[in-house]
Amino acid sequence: MAEISIRNVAKRFGDFTALHSIDLTVADQEFMVLLGASGCGKTTLLRIIAGLESPSQGEVWIGGGRVDHLPPRQRGIAMVFQNYAVFPHLTVFENIAFGLRMQKLAEGEIQHRVNRTAELMHIEQLLKRYSGQLSGGQRQRVAVARALAMEPDVILMDEPLSNLDALLRLEMRAELKGVLAESKTTTIYVTHDQVEAMSLADRIAVMNKGRIVQAEKPIEVYRNPAARFVGSFIGNPPMNFLPAMKAENGSWRVADVVFKGPTSEHDEVAFAIRPEDLAPSGTGLPAEVRVIEPLGPHVLVTCEVDGHLFRAVLDSDLELKRGQTIRLAPSPDRIRWFDPETEQSLQAH
Ligand code: ATP
Repeated sequence: MAEISIRNVAKRFGDFTALHSIDLTVADQEFMVLLGASGCGKTTLLRIIAGLESPSQGEVWIGGGRVDHLPPRQRGIAMVFQNYAVFPHLTVFENIAFGLRMQKLAEGEIQHRVNRTAELMHIEQLLKRYSGQLSGGQRQRVAVARALAMEPDVILMDEPLSNLDALLRLEMRAELKGVLAESKTTTIYVTHDQVEAMSLADRIAVMNKGRIVQAEKPIEVYRNPAARFVGSFIGNPPMNFLPAMKAENGSWRVADVVFKGPTSEHDEVAFAIRPEDLAPSGTGLPAEVRVIEPLGPHVLVTCEVDGHLFRAVLDSDLELKRGQTIRLAPSPDRIRWFDPETEQSLQAH
């Protein structure tokens, strides 16, 4: 069992608070992705779990034991960090074998594990090379192979695929997902790439300014953002937001259309819809077409609704012209609402 539990963890650097009271439990064998913009505290949180940084307050538990006072090597974890510490004077083979030799495994077992993980990371042809002669992307794969070869209960990874080109990254992503699921490892994986997060995670913890805003399954985070920030950070293009004015009988007016909506003490709330949840319809929102970008099967249309930027992903067969006003109807079950002050979702969550 290697459940990870982070309890009321905060981190201050002088006057600056990098993490505010974080609570997060990662289940045994779960793949948790920490996702957020640069500077939101992802790496700091991972370093605290690893023991490379100590928390200003709170506790870290791994596998049922409290570890925040233990040095990294006593926490039973393997890590792959951005500045992957691959030893340049050792061959790729010896780099991958390093931790296994420390554990005094039999030579046959070492050979087997090195070959298997090198194959997974597509670096089997580099085993005899010195790591100092490798490209950044190759070194990064050596660092991942070294961590996997340990067959750890817990693996922490900070942007482990960031130096790979797009195609290799796609391939490695799938391989990594497969191998970690098979090895029953509990994983915490840091990225700022939302596609990577969606494709890998059992759950995504979305971070903003030192806080976890939402930690749920990728589809939940996408469909039901707990806060406006999540809707605007996840999805490309992001969610659209429009002001909604209180009308009669629990209805809200958005541009010149009235929708059934939530109850709120405010006279104005935010109406939200994803660009792909819109379709042309005479009863929809009035949208003046500004830019038309063909994306193959779809077309991305940037419009203005009631003076606000608004994007729609529509069927590319539609004949559209710049300057034209069309009407776009949101799928009723995909409309979301947010509080204007707290920016939290107004739907039951
Ligand atoms: P990135 O994706 O750019 O790596 P991140 O989300 O991982 O960003 P962190 O590296 O955790 O962000 O940094 C969080 C905040 O804490 C940043 O504002 C950073 O400048 C600050 N910070 C991190 N380490 C230190 C330090 N040793 N001293 C002072 N401030 C720090």
